[in-house]
Amino acid sequence: MTVFRARVLDTPDDPFTGGLLRSDDDAGLLVVGGVVLERGDFATVRSAHPDEEVIDLREGVLLPGFVDTHVHFPQVRVIGALGMPLLEWLERCALPEECHLEEPAYAQQVAAEFLSGLTSAGTTAALVFGSHFAPAVDLLFTEAARVGLRVTSGLVVSDRGLPDALLTTPERAYDEAVALAGRWHGSGHARYAVTPRFSFSAGDELLDACASVAKDVPDAWFTSHVNENPAEVAEVARLFTEAEHYVDTYDRHGLLGERSVLAHNVHATDQELSVLAARGASVAHCPTSNAALGSGLFPLRRHVDHGVRVALGSDVGAGTGFSLLKEGLQAYFVQSLLGGVSGMPLSSAHLLHLATRAGALALGLGDRIGDLGVGKEFDAVWVRPLPEDPLDVGLRHAACAEDALAKVFALGTDSDLAGVWVGGERVKFARN
Ligand SMILES: [Zn+2]
Repeated sequence: MTVFRARVLDTPDDPFTGGLLRSDDDAGLLVVGGVVLERGDFATVRSAHPDEEVIDLREGVLLPGFVDTHVHFPQVRVIGALGMPLLEWLERCALPEECHLEEPAYAQQVAAEFLSGLTSAGTTAALVFGSHFAPAVDLLFTEAARVGLRVTSGLVVSDRGLPDALLTTPERAYDEAVALAGRWHGSGHARYAVTPRFSFSAGDELLDACASVAKDVPDAWFTSHVNENPAEVAEVARLFTEAEHYVDTYDRHGLLGERSVLAHNVHATDQELSVLAARGASVAHCPTSNAALGSGLFPLRRHVDHGVRVALGSDVGAGTGFSLLKEGLQAYFVQSLLGGVSGMPLSSAHLLHLATRAGALALGLGDRIGDLGVGKEFDAVWVRPLPEDPLDVGLRHAACAEDALAKVFALGTDSDLAGVWVGGERVKFARN
C-alpha cells in the first residue's frame, strides 16, 4: 500500500458534455495492488492509514497517464522531416525507413527507441501502428511487455501501392496476424489490432482477410487511416468505385465498430461522420501531423455534433514528437484558427480529457484508466518543472486549477516530467 500526496487534476466527467475539471490541491490517493482504493483530502486519507508509505509529489501536478491513439512504431527515426505533403512524405521518408524493419536487429533497436519515446512523454497506453514485418511486431510487443506499457498493436498490411518489400497477400496477412494475436492478444497489457495501412494500399481481398482476422481473434481492435489528405482521398475514390465513400471502404467489410479507431478524418463528409457515429467508432485526431504535412484543419465541432468519439494521436513520425501536451496545444491552436462557427473553443479541461480519458474510452479502457478516481488503476504522470522554469513560475502563480492546467499544456515538455506510473508501477525512462 502507498499513499500518493499530490495536486491532482483529471477529467472523469466529459467537458464536451458539460463536465468540469476535477482538481484536488492536496489529495491523498491510497494505491493498493496498482489500483486507487481511496481518494480524498490528504489529511483524511493519511489519518485512516497512518503507517503506510507516503510518496510526496506536491511539487508540480499529477495527471492521469497520457493515452496516444495513433503512433507509428517504425517511424521514430524519421520524426521531423518537414516540408512534404502526405504522399510525398510516405514515398521519400517513411516507407524507405519502414523497409529497414525487415532486419530484426534493426527492428529491435527501433522498438527500444520507440518505447523510450512513449514513456519519456508520459504516455502509458497507446494504440500503435506496427510494422509490415511480423518479427518486428513481435519485437515491439516484447519490448512493450518489458517496459510495462499498455500497447495495442498489430501487423500492418498492404498489397499495392507501396515498395514491394512492404507488400503481402491476403493469405499471408491472415496467417501472420492470427499467429501474432495468438502470442500476444490478452497477454499482460498487450492486445491485437487488425491494421490495414489504408485502403489506398489495401484492396478488397486484403480487407476481407482483415475482416477474417477480426472475426477469428475475439475482441481484436481495428485501426487504419482515413481522409487525411485531398490527393489520398481522390485516389481512394478512384480505386474503390463501388464504395460510397472512404469510410465505406472499411465499413463494407464490416471492419467498423466500437473497437475501431481511424486516424485523421480531416476531410470527412457528413455522411461519413454519420456512419462513424452509428458504428461507435473513434477518430484519432493528430494535430501536429496534420499541420506538418499540410493535411488540413480538423473539423472537431462537426465530429462532436455528429456524436463521433475523438481522442488524440501523436502520429509519430509525421507528428512532431511523442508529447500529447504538444498535441493538445496544437489541437487548441487549430480550433482557434478555425474560429467562428467552424472552430470549437477548447479549455484546458478539454485538452486534458482528449489526452487522457477520451483516449482510454476510445481504446475500451475507460473502466480501468483515464482518470485517477477510486477503482481506476494508477496510471499517472508527474509534471514537475525545474525551479524557476517558466512553467514552474506559471504553476506557482496560476489563478486557478484550469489556469494551472493551461500552463501545463502551453509550456510543458517531456523534460518537465519527473515520474510515470502504469498500474502503480513506476516506469523507468531516460531522465528518471
Ligand atoms: Zn498515421
